[in-house]
Amino acid sequence: MTEPVFSRIAIVGVGLIGSSIDRAAREYGAAGEIVLYDASPDVRARAEALQLGEMAPSLEAAVAGADCVVLCVPVGALGAAAAGAVPAMKDGAILTDVGSVKGEAARALAAAADGRIHVIPGHPIAGTEQSGPEAGFATLFQGAWHILTPVEGAVPGAAEALEQLTAFWRALGAKVETMDAARHDRVLAITSHLPHLIAFNIVATAFDMETVEQGEVVKYSAGGFRDFTRIAASDPVMWRDVFLNNRDAVLECLGRFSEDLAALQRAIRWGDGDMLMREFTRARTIRKAIIDAGQDSGAVNFGRNVPSAEE
Ligand code: NAP
Repeated sequence: MTEPVFSRIAIVGVGLIGSSIDRAAREYGAAGEIVLYDASPDVRARAEALQLGEMAPSLEAAVAGADCVVLCVPVGALGAAAAGAVPAMKDGAILTDVGSVKGEAARALAAAADGRIHVIPGHPIAGTEQSGPEAGFATLFQGAWHILTPVEGAVPGAAEALEQLTAFWRALGAKVETMDAARHDRVLAITSHLPHLIAFNIVATAFDMETVEQGEVVKYSAGGFRDFTRIAASDPVMWRDVFLNNRDAVLECLGRFSEDLAALQRAIRWGDGDMLMREFTRARTIRKAIIDAGQDSGAVNFGRNVPSAEE
């Protein structure tokens, strides 16, 4: 247990990420009082049944008096949530978010800001393919990166606010880094957004293939395909908003990806085994670098009990 970083925080949007922040903040004592709000009455009822933090009757009631307001809603809903929250926030409070696209988050939060509060967009590089308040867990952020993309602001105390928010995420177990929003969006386009697009696409292609019975795709699904189906099971609203709001960076990556895919296609057509060996060997070194950096488990099949190799 640490000393609470904030006396009171408000979490708006009680899904996977919002409920994980709530659970982690209570578990590690990062906030004295935690007030929740979700636009969905169904989610509010489920969060109450799960005995998460105190549920407020309205957005305004949730954020009033909070030292820090964390918006945990889909990227496309950030503007409306910020516009509703800011007028009810106290002077000098921090407005942050967890949205996966930081350029749009910064724009949406800054558009709502009124010069009284600190705007510090953020993104935890942690998550699962599940959503809703039941899906959250306290250890989600342990050892994960949390990227903050602070914007230049004239509000006095901006440096202290950044320090406090950094301390809060560290208390939840995250490693905190600050970064320019545009750079964040370019990096995440290749490390997260494009892999999801490929997963959505390969699963759609497999199910559309006329020559393969759907039952057989499921029955004989090999490890490679199953791993894609896990990623492709992610929340459609969240991912629609990611692609609509990180369009340029994703299209740039997709262009390069399509060129490289065409080169592999050509190597297969021409029987160029040397080229295939070269590319596949290079790919292995990236996997090793990720494991060496502590970003993933080196255990066979991620340590899962289900057989995976191309059986
Ligand atoms: P989620 O489980 O679907 O939760 C989002 C919640 O926000 C839902 O309960 C939703 O209600 C509610 N909501 C939508 N609009 C709202 C509004 N205007 N005011 C209040 N509540 C509202 O989604 P999540 O996975 O936690 O994702 C939340 C954010 O975290 C997204 O911006 C996403 O990009 C980011 N993120 C996600 C992951 C991940 O792995 N999932 C990782 C890092 C960052 P309804 O369902 O009724 O709309």
